[in-house]
Amino acid sequence: MKQISISLDDNSKEKIVEALKRYSPNEIGGILIGNKVSEDYIIVNDVSISNESGLFNFASFIRDTVKAQKLLNEHYKNSTGFYVGEWHSHPSFSLNPSGKDIITMKGIIQDKNYNASFAILIIVKLNLEKELESKGFLFHKEIKEYICLE
Ligand SMILES: [Zn+2]
Repeated sequence: MKQISISLDDNSKEKIVEALKRYSPNEIGGILIGNKVSEDYIIVNDVSISNESGLFNFASFIRDTVKAQKLLNEHYKNSTGFYVGEWHSHPSFSLNPSGKDIITMKGIIQDKNYNASFAILIIVKLNLEKELESKGFLFHKEIKEYICLE
């Protein structure tokens, strides 16, 4: 199992920072859309913001999928990106996956509707200087737990 590197482009970073400022101290998240630059390097070029339920909580968020699916369809149509994984914030916790996060991610790679052998989870927050901090984790069908990404 090869290590995969991932980075966020300016557009997706800006969208995440804006969402964090808007919804903090509640959790917010969505899906990651990106492209493989090489076999082991993915650039995320767009993200969805799942806010359609209007329900927010400081320790969890509702994974609405309507806006995510719409955005994903646009990218499929234009061949500009595919489903890469999920992102959400941990405004008041460490940037490590919770037990529930791990169950969610494992569910996604087992779910035939996603048709994904792997999925990346990026957990984010704004530090005291309001700068974006993030940690990435790779979940793969062939890995029992997960791999921390650089
Ligand atoms: Zn979480």
